[in-house]
Amino acid sequence: MNAIHRADFAVIGTWRDDIKINQEKVKEHVAKVGRKYTIDTVVSMCPTRAISLNDDDTMEIDNKSCVRCMHCINVMTKALSPGDDKGASIMIGGKRSLKVGDMMGIMIKPFIKLETDEDYEELEEFAEECIEFFADNALEHERIGETIDRVTLPVFLEAVGVEANPNMVNHPRTSSYVRMDDFDEEAAKWFERKALDAGMTVASE
Ligand code: SF4
Repeated sequence: MNAIHRADFAVIGTWRDDIKINQEKVKEHVAKVGRKYTIDTVVSMCPTRAISLNDDDTMEIDNKSCVRCMHCINVMTKALSPGDDKGASIMIGGKRSLKVGDMMGIMIKPFIKLETDEDYEELEEFAEECIEFFADNALEHERIGETIDRVTLPVFLEAVGVEANPNMVNHPRTSSYVRMDDFDEEAAKWFERKALDAGMTVASE
């Protein structure tokens, strides 16, 4: 609960395939509470406008735009549910005021599987690396979010062996600035990683 706002190292359950929609239950929900109420409380409340309600009272979700906030699922508990490919996101650096103002955790690992003992060992090892980085670099009274803010995110990522990822951009849809240097090489790496992820998903099914 509120882990993004307060945890130095938040591990938040999520999924990476599509939200499951039971269209019959969607229709029942709309029939019970009304179209306007459904639009006001679900469709309009989606932070990325990923949901639309069709004329026949079925629901469509643009899963690429969904940020897994859980709002729609919490409202329409019978009609919507998380996908089957479950895991966790790791966000680092959330905190209340201390040296600098309140900070939200930075998305460091958008998706990790947490099924096998090896998955958990990997998570523990990563947490240890973060603690080591903090022990070596933090100033007195700093929390890790402030340390990262001071030394910069690329320095932190290099220290803990994590590749930069577009999911780390704080406000991707509002930033009007894009760095294009080394774009082709970075794009090739991104597509390689996506292909690898897709292969791993198929292999784990
Ligand atoms: S989980 Fe959140 S972001 Fe995703 S479709 Fe539902 S309300 Fe929108």
